[in-house]
Amino acid sequence: MSEKACQECRMVSSGSVCPNCKATSLSDDFSGLVIIFDSEGSAMARAMKVNEKGRYAIRVR
Ligand SMILES: [Zn+2]
Repeated sequence: MSEKACQECRMVSSGSVCPNCKATSLSDDFSGLVIIFDSEGSAMARAMKVNEKGRYAIRVR
């Protein structure tokens, strides 16, 4: 099963709907993967404007 990245929030998942923002605009053409464990205290999460823990693509086309 291939994973896809949300074009709205960049969360990576294997479903057809983004579990984070419920968008259906998912792309399998993405690069890089960042795992956010703690959105509160993570500088990476802040830099990526992420407020939910999970896996995120760095770039989504
Ligand atoms: Zn999303």
